[in-house]
Amino acid sequence: RICLDILKNNILLIFLILGMVLGIVMGIALRSLNPPMTTTQLRYFSLPGDLLLRMLRMMILPLIVSSLITGLASLDANASGKLGGRAVIYYFSTTIIAVILGIVLVVSIKPGELDRSTTNATGTQTDDSVNAADTALDLVYNMLPDNLVEATFRSAKTNYRVSTSFQVINGTNTSVITRTAVLDKRDGMNILGVLVFTIALGVVLSRLGERAKIIVLFFDGLNEAVMKLVYLVIWYSPIGVMFLIAAKLIAMEDIGETVQKVGMYTVTVLAGLGIHSLIILPLIYLIIVRKNPFKFLYGVLQALVTAFGTSSSSATLPVTFNCLEEKLGVDKRVTRFVLPIGATINMDGTALYEAVAAIFIAQINNIPLDIGQIITISLTATLASIGAAGIPQAGLVTMAIVLTAVNLPVDDIALIITVDWFLDRFRTAVNVLGDSIGAGVVEKLSHQQLRKEIPLESVEIDPI
Ligand code: ASP
Repeated sequence: RICLDILKNNILLIFLILGMVLGIVMGIALRSLNPPMTTTQLRYFSLPGDLLLRMLRMMILPLIVSSLITGLASLDANASGKLGGRAVIYYFSTTIIAVILGIVLVVSIKPGELDRSTTNATGTQTDDSVNAADTALDLVYNMLPDNLVEATFRSAKTNYRVSTSFQVINGTNTSVITRTAVLDKRDGMNILGVLVFTIALGVVLSRLGERAKIIVLFFDGLNEAVMKLVYLVIWYSPIGVMFLIAAKLIAMEDIGETVQKVGMYTVTVLAGLGIHSLIILPLIYLIIVRKNPFKFLYGVLQALVTAFGTSSSSATLPVTFNCLEEKLGVDKRVTRFVLPIGATINMDGTALYEAVAAIFIAQINNIPLDIGQIITISLTATLASIGAAGIPQAGLVTMAIVLTAVNLPVDDIALIITVDWFLDRFRTAVNVLGDSIGAGVVEKLSHQQLRKEIPLESVEIDPI
C-alpha cells in the first residue's frame, strides 16, 4: 500500500527519469546504426523533443507577464521592495560564491596544464567575431526595448558565429577538427526587456489601487489558466525529454573523444557544479529555512530533469513554477515575483563555468594571472552570467566579456565548444536549482511581510 502511494504520488517524476534513461540508451543504441541516420530521418526523430521545447516556450510570455503583475499587485510597495531586495542579495551572493568555488577548483586542479598535451588550438578563425563590448551593450539595449511587441519575439541585434578548426594531438595521432557554433541570440524572445517593462507596470498598477483591480484580476485569471496548461504539457515532458536527449546523442560526432579531449576541464566544471548544488545551496537553505534541503531538492527534481533535457532555464520556468507551488507549497506571491527574475538573471552554474573556462584558457596558453586579473574574472563572470539568456549555450557567448576583460584570446572559446552542449545541461539544472532555493529562502525571510497581505480573491470589484 505504501509502495503504491509512493508510486502514485511520484508517477510523473518516475516517468520523467525513465524518459531520461531511455533517451540515453536509445541515443547510444541508434548511434551505432549502420548506415547511420540521415539528416532527414534525424529531423523526424527530433520532432517529439522539439514539440516539448516549443510548448514550454509558448508558455513563457503569458506566464512571466501574468505572474509578475499579480505577484507585484498582491504585495504592498514596502513588501515588494523588501522581497526584491532580498532576492537580489541572494542572487548576487550565491553567484559570487559559485564563482569563487569555480576559481578555487580550477586553480588547484589546474586542468589547463594537464590537458595541454592533448589539446591544442591552431589556426582558429571567427566570422562575426564575438565582441565583449557588444555583449555588454546588448544587455543594456535588451533591458529597454524600443518596441515591446518586437521584444516578445526577438532580442537585440547580435548574432554570433564562432567557426573554428583545432588540432588534437593524441599520442602520435594528430587530427584537425572543425566546429561551427552559430549562437544566434535573436532566436528567442527578449525576456529581459519584457521583464523590465512588466515589473514597472506591476509596480504602477499596485499603486493605482481600485482603478487597477480589473486588470490585476484579469492577469490573475490568465495566470491560473496558463498554469493549468503547463500541467498538461508536463504530462508530455517524459516523451519530449527522452527524444531531446536521444536526438542529441545521435547527432554527436564522437562522444568518447569529446569528453576525453578536454577531460580535466570537464571534470573540474562538473565537480564545481556538484559541490555547489549538493553542498553549498542545501547548506544555505538549511541555515536560513531550517528544513531538510534534500526534501526540497526532491520536490524540484522534475524541474531539474527538464532543465537537463532542454538546456534552457527559461523553457523550464513553467515546470519550476509547478514544482514550487504545487509540490512544495511555496507562497505564490513569492514564486510569481522571484522566479521569472531568477530564471533570467540568476545563473550560478553559468557563472561558475565562465570562471573555470576563462582560467582554463589562461592555463592552456601558459598565461599566468595575477590576483587583480582573478578578481576581474570573478566580477566579469558574474556579469556574464547575468547577461546570458536562459537559452541553450548562451553562456558560451557571454564568455567573451570575461576573456576580453583579462586579455585572453577570445578565439580559444573554440577549445571548449565541443563539450559545451554537455556541460550546458548540468549548469542549466544548477541555475534552476539556484532560482528555486532562492524562492524558498526569500519566502522564509519575508514571512512578516507575507503575513499581512490581503489575498487577491477577496478583492471586491464595484459593478460598473
Ligand atoms: N543554458 C543556460 C540556461 O538556460 C545558460 C547557459 O549557461 O548557457 O540557464
